[in-house]
Amino acid sequence: MCADAKVIIFLGPPGSGKGTQAARLSPALGVPTVSTGDMLRRECASGSNLGRSVQSILASGQLVSDDLINQVVGSRLRESDCKAGYILDGYPRTVSQAQYLDELLGRLRMPSPVVFDFEISTEEIVARLSSRRQCMQCGAISSIDEKSNGTDLFCERDGAELIQRPDDNPATIRERLRLYERNAGKLLRYYGKRNCHRIRAARPPEAVLNDLLARLGSQWSKPVPGRQRKLSIQPTYQHI
Ligand code: ADP
Repeated sequence: MCADAKVIIFLGPPGSGKGTQAARLSPALGVPTVSTGDMLRRECASGSNLGRSVQSILASGQLVSDDLINQVVGSRLRESDCKAGYILDGYPRTVSQAQYLDELLGRLRMPSPVVFDFEISTEEIVARLSSRRQCMQCGAISSIDEKSNGTDLFCERDGAELIQRPDDNPATIRERLRLYERNAGKLLRYYGKRNCHRIRAARPPEAVLNDLLARLGSQWSKPVPGRQRKLSIQPTYQHI
């Protein structure tokens, strides 16, 4: 194991900003994000056997089986870029996945995870998911403004088209939230007495990031290579 390996788990409902924060925290800590949702969507887009077998499950908002996702994660976490740690976004989602992950971390001689639980109201989630768009090229997440002149239909980074995820429709959002509620309590009880932090997610992204960094502590943050901006480890937001 890498002496200062970092394993971070993001728990929280769909739309709570886990992906947005993972994209910011990952370069700050120098570890990759492992997003099971993104991995499965890539499989679907590539038309692989795995992608074809999970496409309808993703479209309906159901969860894929624990065995399948454990296998996908198990092989991803053995890849060479994962030696110094990772941010797990969207995994584990059930107690059985959490148990598998604990065994896996033990086998890979990785440290026990730091868990962040993103808290947010249902109204805020529905509003966020309805306006959420994702770049079809680089996967960056952004939000459209009904009143804009159309410039926000393209990615700020690479100019590619922003699309709405097929599972960001009202019926599927409801199903994803229902499944989240069903599993969240048990999962939080599983991690409850360990290194688990509650994060108020209904704040501007920069405020949430500062909160995460502050809780991780100075020994975990390092300047982003090639960037002028030094990441603050002190919260700079006002409590609201
Ligand atoms: P969200 O958190 O916004 O619902 P994700 O991008 O994390 O979306 O996941 C999209 C879909 O991928 C889920 O609705 C589910 O079908 C599948 N999925 C992702 N992670 C898991 C997991 N850990 N266990 C089972 N299914 C998963």
